[in-house]
Amino acid sequence: MKGPKNKRERRYVAMKSVSIVLTFVTVYTAYVYIGRLSYSYVYQQVSKVKGGAFIGVSVLELLIVLVCFVRICVEGPGLLDRKWTDFEKPYAGNGYDVDAPDAFICEQDGRPRWCHVCMKHKPDRAHHSSEIGKCVLKMDHYCQYLGKVIGYANYRFFWVMLLHAVILLLFWIITTGYYLAAQVRDGIVEGFIISSLAIEVLVLLGAAGLFVQHCYMISVNKTTIEYMSPNYQYFINLKMDDEFNSRVVVFTEPGGNPWTIGLLNNWKAVFGSNPLNYVLPISRPSDDGMHFAYNQELLNQLKSNYLQSVQQPPWVTTTPNDPAQPTTT
Ligand SMILES: [Zn+2]
Repeated sequence: MKGPKNKRERRYVAMKSVSIVLTFVTVYTAYVYIGRLSYSYVYQQVSKVKGGAFIGVSVLELLIVLVCFVRICVEGPGLLDRKWTDFEKPYAGNGYDVDAPDAFICEQDGRPRWCHVCMKHKPDRAHHSSEIGKCVLKMDHYCQYLGKVIGYANYRFFWVMLLHAVILLLFWIITTGYYLAAQVRDGIVEGFIISSLAIEVLVLLGAAGLFVQHCYMISVNKTTIEYMSPNYQYFINLKMDDEFNSRVVVFTEPGGNPWTIGLLNNWKAVFGSNPLNYVLPISRPSDDGMHFAYNQELLNQLKSNYLQSVQQPPWVTTTPNDPAQPTTT
């Protein structure tokens, strides 16, 4: 029997294995909670109303999680190739074309970022995904649990899925714990239920940690890739004035964040203005995923720093004998 040949194949097999284990865990815990606890024990022996409610809530939450997963797969992360021609035009003059955006992330020499695999200019926040071999708009990460790339188009479904997974797990753990205590008192404890509860607690620890991390990243308007590079320094090709289209290359401090536009706006940038998008997998983002609002305060600061650095104030350009000048001996 042949094993995986290279590192990439081994990584692929490992990630697929994680997805299969997660699917098995979900099916097993859902079966134990719905079939063994809610139906066979609570519904048949304790209370039909409570048993029915537990089954109803579980099925509803599982359905929402499933629809989120389907939407993550169907929408995909948002690839560059569909609209790249329109995006390319302003960059014809290597980023100094009159139609180029007022600000865009560039290479150190001011040229637009370039993907050497796709042979295309990369919009702000787009990255090449080695998993699918294409550039992904506002790429967030490759989710090894789902086996899918998460990006601009499916990120909000990913977050809503995490939200409902956490709600469902909390609901299962609290109700299972309550009835498990009753079973212990009655001396009829089922091993199935204990093992399922242990799995639910473990999965909740992982899911809740991930959920809190993503809430934080949305609050500061960072993708996982950006969050994982806390000292990254952005080079920005910045238009200084409209009349002459004069542009300069400025750079942020390490860790500077050009994307944060205030807490509420950062959340709106992901979920749009429809509040239902925060709780259900309703619609994909309506913007193009290639242009993002900049932190204007930061841009103004960079612009001002640049002007200060090139326009020496008159009291500095003095004669060599000026006593104000530092002297060396
Ligand atoms: Zn690419």
